[in-house]
Amino acid sequence: MNIPNTADIVIIGGGVMGASAAYHLALRGMKNIVLLEKEEFFGTGATGRCAGGVRYQFSTEINVKLSIESLPMIERFKDEIGQDVNYRQCGYLLVATNERDAETFKRNVQLQNSLGVGTELLSGDEVRKRLPLMKFDDAIAGTFNQKDGLVDPNSVVMGYISAAQRLGAKAYADAAVTGIRVEGGKVRGVVTASGSVDAPLVVNAAGPWAGRVSEMAGVSIPITPIRRQMFTTNVMPGIPADFPFVIDFGQSLYFHREGEGLLVGMSNQNEKAGFDQNVDEEFEMINFEAGMTRLPLLERAQRASHWAGLYEVTPDAHPIFGKTSVDGFSVVAGFSGHGFMHGPVSGKLMTEFILDGKFQTLDVSALDLERFAEGRQIKEYNVV
Ligand SMILES: Cc1cc2nc3c(=O)[nH]c(=O)nc-3n(C[C@H](O)[C@H](O)[C@H](O)COP(=O)(O)OP(=O)(O)OC[C@H]3O[C@@H](n4cnc5c(N)ncnc54)[C@H](O)[C@@H]3O)c2cc1C
Repeated sequence: MNIPNTADIVIIGGGVMGASAAYHLALRGMKNIVLLEKEEFFGTGATGRCAGGVRYQFSTEINVKLSIESLPMIERFKDEIGQDVNYRQCGYLLVATNERDAETFKRNVQLQNSLGVGTELLSGDEVRKRLPLMKFDDAIAGTFNQKDGLVDPNSVVMGYISAAQRLGAKAYADAAVTGIRVEGGKVRGVVTASGSVDAPLVVNAAGPWAGRVSEMAGVSIPITPIRRQMFTTNVMPGIPADFPFVIDFGQSLYFHREGEGLLVGMSNQNEKAGFDQNVDEEFEMINFEAGMTRLPLLERAQRASHWAGLYEVTPDAHPIFGKTSVDGFSVVAGFSGHGFMHGPVSGKLMTEFILDGKFQTLDVSALDLERFAEGRQIKEYNVV
């Protein structure tokens, strides 16, 4: 493999963050961009294993604003990048089955509405009316936004990488970074099995592996990998075409259409931190049974596929943007299980940070690495 031995910038990680950053840097005219991905294919980390959901429904202003910037970029993706990403605005319907969640949902809707996002607050009866196939006798409230939906993650990654390459960026798969060179508090480049790349700027976009990558530069960042898994079913003729992305919030259990069948996932709240990406078959049974209780039609369905991936969890469930203690070494990671949808704007924000010295499209400077040491965390409630 002919990885160049110098670059103006090295991006570590070929998931949605690295791909979007490479494209936006190239679009702004940056030359000699080198993106390095450890796996054989781009987008096979968290991005390729995600549920593909995109939503405006968050509980903090900064996350809603990230969606307000990012989701329209996905809507414009085909016109801008030339790649169809199959954005289906089926809506997200979040269901609350306890008072605490119902109260929080009310506040979330007020916040979203105040920012111009048209999420509706639903009563328990309205939830049951909208989901006649599901058993939600215990639903006491819900929220729905028709513009939330589903997008194909692989198309977004490959769309950005191909567009970046057309603009002159170089992207290499099967190119794991094994070391980061730092001298006098400044980053000097990276080391791979195929040789070193000297560069004055290095971006850590390594998703769930971002903590490990940062350690190579002697920087500690609080990103914990936590396994999450899901399965899909074969054809389920009873599921209507406009079936929304349903989240049973109290159980972190979710359903959405996947082709002619369904995708069903559930977060194991007892999952230990680690890099294991094998499906936990025992927990899959728990997921299947919880799914059947809510949607009895599942009893007749057969599993078509299943997989697991890693959430990249920070202590406040918000991402980390920008500088580290090593000059020239920056980070865009830690999206805590909802980063696919924020990938488009995050690559643009990192480009602004690198080329303009500040975040222009949206001020995300509060989401810096220092907030953890300084106790400035803000907690996101809508984590599934
Ligand atoms: C099961 C599951 C469901 C999810 N559902 C959703 C959803 O519905 N909607 C949503 O918005 N988000 C969802 N997410 C979260 C989303 O997938 C992530 O937030 C997002 O994809 C993170 O993108 P990334 O580019 O930071 O990470 P990744 O996609 O993991 O990319 C990082 C890349 O860095 C590479 N890398 C790591 N170390 C090195 C190294 N040393 N050298 C070179 N390359 C390296 C990795 O191989 C990887 O490809 C889900 C995640 C999971 C696991």
